[in-house]
Amino acid sequence: MKVQENISLKSFNTFGIDSIAKFFVAIKSVEGLKELLFLQSMRKETKLVLGGGSNILFTKNYNGLVIKNEIAGIETIKEDAEYIYVKVGAGVNWHSFVLHCIEHNWGGVENLALIPGTVGAAPIQNIGAYGVELKNVFFSLEAFEINEKVVHNFSLNDCAFGYRDSVFKNKFKNQFVILSTSFRLRKFPIFNIEYGAIQQELEKNAEKKLSVKTICQAVINIRKSKLPDPEIIGNAGSFFKNPEISSEEFEKLKVLFPTIVSYELANGNKKLAAGWLVEQCGPNAGVTWKGYRVGDAGCHEKQALVLVNHGNSNGKEIYNLSEAVLETVYQKFGITLEREVNIF
Ligand code: FAD
Ligand code: NAP
Repeated sequence: MKVQENISLKSFNTFGIDSIAKFFVAIKSVEGLKELLFLQSMRKETKLVLGGGSNILFTKNYNGLVIKNEIAGIETIKEDAEYIYVKVGAGVNWHSFVLHCIEHNWGGVENLALIPGTVGAAPIQNIGAYGVELKNVFFSLEAFEINEKVVHNFSLNDCAFGYRDSVFKNKFKNQFVILSTSFRLRKFPIFNIEYGAIQQELEKNAEKKLSVKTICQAVINIRKSKLPDPEIIGNAGSFFKNPEISSEEFEKLKVLFPTIVSYELANGNKKLAAGWLVEQCGPNAGVTWKGYRVGDAGCHEKQALVLVNHGNSNGKEIYNLSEAVLETVYQKFGITLEREVNIF
């Protein structure tokens, strides 16, 4: 374990922001983490756990210790007639884990293909896509409490998963290092193809039989065609969450904006497509945020919900753009969007 000083985080965050960390360490094991956290010299430093940096915006230098989680390993812990239980190191790349499941025909994560980042960060915001969330396949996780220096086991209930949310974004924010996540995967997969985009993509496929492999490939194709690749243009995926409003509020908005995009939720509320809301607004009358650029900060041309770094933007400029977007959406719809990306 080597503590490095004054390290640029540019290659460690998918926005490509050139923020400097006062201290930086990559840890590969629980023992390495313990050794680090018991170092007298690091005791007083504020700490930030970093996975793939795909859900983070650095708006300034990080004046503390950045701990990059590189704990590896995929291990089957038990199985029964229906399920296989797999424990995965927090530093494992999420998409490689998905491909591992596809290879073994284990069902549950195929809709979550190609989401960047690590397995350890996946529970933080209960990652979700195409009608599936991490909580649907979650079994348990192990996390190290930074202050108390003890390992805790979290069950599904302990994590309080919500829409792009968990206890680790609220009550326990920045207090734990997730070490591993365990999953409960189906040996006989049940498919979820309720999202129109998946159905349309599957129809193009000559192989009509559904499998985890065909669904995974459909998701990969859709994502590659729609979403900006962080290797090419800096971004952290959706910058804002889709807002949830009551059906009464929705009816009022629908009168004013008949084409508003919404989805009914199980609790009777409506989920609005934040991308649509952002697209309807802009910096000036008659100009949309979609494809807009100010300096090197911008909104992606195909998905207004994704803020991008065209090259040399700093985090403050992207943050300021997000403020302007928030303000115009509020002015037009009376809705306050919530940021999904973690701001540091
Ligand atoms: P990081 O960005 O490194 O960290 C995110 C947060 O988690 C930070 O607060 C960090 O401190 C904390 N953290 C990270 N690792 C740990 C750990 N081991 N222990 C404790 N805390 C930790 N998200 C979705 O939900 N669905 C999508 O479909 C989706 N699509 C995306 C598409 C693109 C192109 C991009 C760039 C992002 C997308 N995201 C999506 C967002 C992002 O990929 C996920 O949130 C992912 O889980 C972040 O993982 P990470 O390892 O990069 O986390
Ligand atoms: P999209 O298909 O253009 O749809 C826009 C929004 O409508 C999505 O946010 C989605 O909500 C919602 N939606 C679409 N079909 C729905 C259905 N049948 N039932 C309920 N809600 C529906 O979205 P996209 O931008 O291309 O993204 C596709 C999927 O990948 C979405 O699930 C999205 O969340 C996920 N994604 C997430 C990120 C991120 O960073 N968080 C980035 C890229 C893509 P939900 O978001 O609730 O699914």
